[in-house]
Amino acid sequence: MALIVQKYGGTSVGSVERIEAVAEKVLGFRRQGHDVVVVVSAMSGETNRLLALARQIDEQPDMREMDALVATGEQVSMALLAMALHKRGCPARSYNGAQVRILTDSAFTKARIRQIDDARIREDLARDHVVVIAGFQGVDEDGNVTTLGRGGSDTPAVAVAAALRADECQIYTDVDGVYTTDPRVVPEARRLDRITFEEMLELASQGSKVLQIRSVEFAGKYRVPLRVLSSFVDGPGTLITMEDEVADMEAPTIAGIAFNRDEAKITVRGVPDTPGTAYRILGPVGDANIEVDVIVQNVAEGKSTDFTFTVHRNDLQRAAKVLEGVSEALGARGIVTDARICKVSVVGVGMRSHAGVASRMFKALSDVNINIQMVTTSEIKITVVLEEKYLELAVRALHTAFGLDTPLVEDR
Ligand code: ASP
Ligand code: MG
Repeated sequence: MALIVQKYGGTSVGSVERIEAVAEKVLGFRRQGHDVVVVVSAMSGETNRLLALARQIDEQPDMREMDALVATGEQVSMALLAMALHKRGCPARSYNGAQVRILTDSAFTKARIRQIDDARIREDLARDHVVVIAGFQGVDEDGNVTTLGRGGSDTPAVAVAAALRADECQIYTDVDGVYTTDPRVVPEARRLDRITFEEMLELASQGSKVLQIRSVEFAGKYRVPLRVLSSFVDGPGTLITMEDEVADMEAPTIAGIAFNRDEAKITVRGVPDTPGTAYRILGPVGDANIEVDVIVQNVAEGKSTDFTFTVHRNDLQRAAKVLEGVSEALGARGIVTDARICKVSVVGVGMRSHAGVASRMFKALSDVNINIQMVTTSEIKITVVLEEKYLELAVRALHTAFGLDTPLVEDR
């Protein structure tokens, strides 16, 4: 017997039929003797509908009232699910964030969870009830309703699981797990049985949007085993877990390939190769609140060198503007920008103990004649910056080179 926290996303509770199907699923776990706590999102489209209503009244509505409004979406689905469970003879009670007391800070529309009072949940579980909780919301010290940011129902599910020391937190969604890469780019992409928190964070921050990043950080910090699975098709999904629990399998070196097209590159040409130059360039960029990612500075030939870095494509114009003055002040030869680049990364904790990952990556790219513009590495990730038009080709080549393609089934 286990204690399981399940989160169902918007599409999983998108209609009355879907809510009834969720109730059946919950009952299935009950029959196996498990205790179940369910966290629900609003029915799909509902949060957007509410936001649009607010905008009809005021383009810039008061943030406190905005949260009071959008938090209602999840209350609808929580109550409907409890009713669907009752109809099936299953005792259940629903609670909104304030009723549980999911205490947050007061940053309306992007609040962070501070503390969860688990007393009520535990009482209900002891009385053999299913507990249904509205996702996406909490309450601040002063009793104001708060919400946790778009897509913000994963984090409370993980937080509730952590507070209850649940055996597993299951995130039900419309995909059946975490994949080696985006199947739309590589049809041979495989569902991973397991992945570590660290790898998941790298894949998520690189644009694999299965889980809210904050929920993965939370699960890693509190060691909550997290499973992503489909509410539409049965299957084991992907378990996100600690490294030592993955290590005893024949773990492949690379877990997956992440990529990102929203990148742009800026080069300041002919800057002096002297102390303080990098700071004089990146200081003003940081002050303008522009995030800088890959940075490359070449060894100087003579007294000057080129300084290149990447930013989000939306920030390119702004960054270039900031740097015009800087370039002049430094006596540099000017700025060159390029918005047609992309970033491709191979991610895997296995690279800590396996040499040669970088050379394998470079060979795979060289075999398909792709020029690498920039490279950066971390302990479990190697990222290359490429011309944008090579993105698909690069991801496919790397997916094959690292043995991630689905094995061919011949006798079909
Ligand atoms: N209903 C919220 C949203 O659409 C939260 C969630 O679905 O996780 O952003
Ligand atoms: Mg949603």
